[in-house]
Amino acid sequence: MALKFRLKGLAETFIDHIQCPGCGKCDSDDTSFSTEYTRVTFEGIIVVVQCQVCAEIFVPDRQRCGIIDSKELRKAVEKDAQENEEPLLSGLEAVLLSAERMNAMRKGELH
Ligand SMILES: [Zn+2]
Repeated sequence: MALKFRLKGLAETFIDHIQCPGCGKCDSDDTSFSTEYTRVTFEGIIVVVQCQVCAEIFVPDRQRCGIIDSKELRKAVEKDAQENEEPLLSGLEAVLLSAERMNAMRKGELH
């Protein structure tokens, strides 16, 4: 069963398969992975998952990002960043960097 992430009328993303680069755990449902770090960008919904086994944070490849309304999506992303006072992530590149940073912070805290 594919994982589906949807922002009503704006964008949707499908993922068939998730495999953790940290411990190799793979699954096609979300019981082994938490998706709370998933970000909405101008390029669509970029899913960020955290492995429940080894706590690795990563961005699964082979995401199928669909944008339904790019103008409204852009507005929603900008509004969201403003309201949450978070840096605006424009696309995949920025999300990958942010996932890397979260991993570095997480590993730093363990030492
Ligand atoms: Zn893992």
